[in-house]
Amino acid sequence: MQKLEHIGIAVKNLAEANVLFAQLLGSEHYKIEEVESEGVRTSFFRIGDVKIELLEATKPDSPIARFIDKRGEGIHHLAFEVADLPQSISEFQSKGFQFINPVPKNGADNKSICFLHPKSTQGVLVELCQERNS
Ligand code: ZN
Repeated sequence: MQKLEHIGIAVKNLAEANVLFAQLLGSEHYKIEEVESEGVRTSFFRIGDVKIELLEATKPDSPIARFIDKRGEGIHHLAFEVADLPQSISEFQSKGFQFINPVPKNGADNKSICFLHPKSTQGVLVELCQERNS
């Protein structure tokens, strides 16, 4: 792991959450991006070295909608940047960690991403991410 890249927060209403987080963090979100394949609309804030990613479901069966149904709004995942995603995946697999998607997929913010299963990480959903075409 290189650093904590961002913290993902599930919200019901992105427009309202953007206003709230702008007040909280003292700066506006710098982009909004929809990831259609994941059924999610995201907005990004910068605070120091870390980003905050707000996640709103765009359809009722999206993972974010299911998360909010089960657990309510709040912290959804921690995302750590890695230098070589495929290599990190096989290293973590050899240590016994389970993955939700062991094959990287395209996430927001020009990242390749994969998620560790929270069963193997103390209930915390952990995302590994790497800048695409870097
Ligand atoms: Zn994320």
